[in-house]
Amino acid sequence: MQKLVFLLFTFIMNIAVYGQTVIKRPKLVVGIVVDQMSWDYLYRYYNRYDDNGGFKKLLNQGFSCENTLITYTPTVTACGHTGIYTGSVPAIHGIVGNDWWDKILGKNVYCTEDDSVATVGSNTTLGKMSPRNLFTTTICDELKMATNFKSKVVGIAIKDRGSILPAGHTADAAYWYDNKTGDWITSSYYMTELPKWVKDFNSQKMADKYYKEDWNTLYPIETYTQSTKDDMPYELKNYGSHFPYDLKRHVAKNYNIISATPFGNNLTFDMAKAALTAEQLGNDAVTDFLAISFSSPDYIGHAFGPNSIEAEDGFLRLDKSLGNFLNFLNEKVGEGQYLVFLSADHGAAHVPGFLKEHKVPTGNLNTSGMMSEMNKLLNEKFDYDELILHISNYQLYLNHKAINASKLKEKDIRKWIIEYLLKQPGISSAFDLDALYETTLNATIKDMIANGYNPARSGDIQLILKPHWIEGFEKGGTTHGVWNPYDAHIPLLWYGWNIKQGKSNRKMSMADIAPTIAALLHIQMPSGNVGQVIEEVVR
Ligand code: ZN
Ligand code: ZN
Repeated sequence: MQKLVFLLFTFIMNIAVYGQTVIKRPKLVVGIVVDQMSWDYLYRYYNRYDDNGGFKKLLNQGFSCENTLITYTPTVTACGHTGIYTGSVPAIHGIVGNDWWDKILGKNVYCTEDDSVATVGSNTTLGKMSPRNLFTTTICDELKMATNFKSKVVGIAIKDRGSILPAGHTADAAYWYDNKTGDWITSSYYMTELPKWVKDFNSQKMADKYYKEDWNTLYPIETYTQSTKDDMPYELKNYGSHFPYDLKRHVAKNYNIISATPFGNNLTFDMAKAALTAEQLGNDAVTDFLAISFSSPDYIGHAFGPNSIEAEDGFLRLDKSLGNFLNFLNEKVGEGQYLVFLSADHGAAHVPGFLKEHKVPTGNLNTSGMMSEMNKLLNEKFDYDELILHISNYQLYLNHKAINASKLKEKDIRKWIIEYLLKQPGISSAFDLDALYETTLNATIKDMIANGYNPARSGDIQLILKPHWIEGFEKGGTTHGVWNPYDAHIPLLWYGWNIKQGKSNRKMSMADIAPTIAALLHIQMPSGNVGQVIEEVVR
């Protein structure tokens, strides 16, 4: 009783001295997405990561959700960035792929394309982008609404979709990289003119500075024993074939190549630091949000594969830069004053050539070749050309106009296509999407397909690849997009404000990230949220 009286007294005194108690929030949330990072890269290179680098700091001082899975297909960039920031799935947020076939417009649509806006910051068309195709709010929108728009939200990524989709509808700005001019740009959706600090940043032509360094390995090349030898025949040769990569020849000529080198990450860090300083993010009592995505690991991964020296070197360098960036946040915002989470939009498959070398069943499926052949055979059988309009995201889109106008039976066409698909060596299953739940199929895959299915934007027939099979990339390199763990198992690390050190192997979903941030900040979860709060993180 005495204790209770004392507590009550302390409580009243606190209110008397400090006024009302207030909600505690971090000064800044920094969302970090690594574009193409399977969970196992945390440990694959662990012994090579710097003790003062980023990954060991996040793992050993932060909280790691070790078993975080993507719960939809296709596991591609636009869906991944949207999934992390909306706590939702393509069926609800509408971003069903990087591209999809618009059934009403009768054309392919890019996830962030928007003809009603103009590029700001260059004369190219690369800025005609906005988040208008996204149906739901992101966690950044919710933070804005929770603070009556006093929070500042800025998105930054080389890829437009990696910047725009996380930052959401109400963002102050999203910036992405114009690979024709080497400048950071935005669109008239956000502003009419670039702020002075972005113009100043662009005038430094940082890409050229990095090109002058060339790309050699960070450590002696013979120490890269976690990777295959340099210059394997199954790597894509688009960017050159082996170390050292002569980048000097690209100065002032080719601003695209930097994306497929680790310097694309450096350029993104530089831009993020400039944004934080100029926009004074995390500088007052109202929480701000900086959403950064590192696109370069994806370009490097596609070209060289996860077992290449290029990929290893990219991650060792990213680790160092990340450590550097955390020190910068300590200086600018203050240790313990900011909340960081790091995740990935998807992982990636090993290169089929590499897997073949080691006797793992694999192959490349040429879907565009398959579509032409099917259309030819369908024409012979049904006397109608182009009955399949499009294949994307492992889905076929039928020519409904033609089918409806003619006397053709849609059922017969679908049956013929599915029979054809099931005969292909790389395909394990094919079925009508509108009969998904009547199809005999593993429950996990079924749920992932349903979560990725949006009737207005998705196709008519789904195909499932056999494990390790990839779509395209016949000339080398690899990709991602399927349900399997190598694409769907992603890292999820929490660090900083109110985060206790720890680890969990409980199964979690990418969709849990946004509601967990919402719980930490005491704000509403995004409007399409289907994720759960990760109790271990908020405890
Ligand atoms: Zn990606
Ligand atoms: Zn990719």
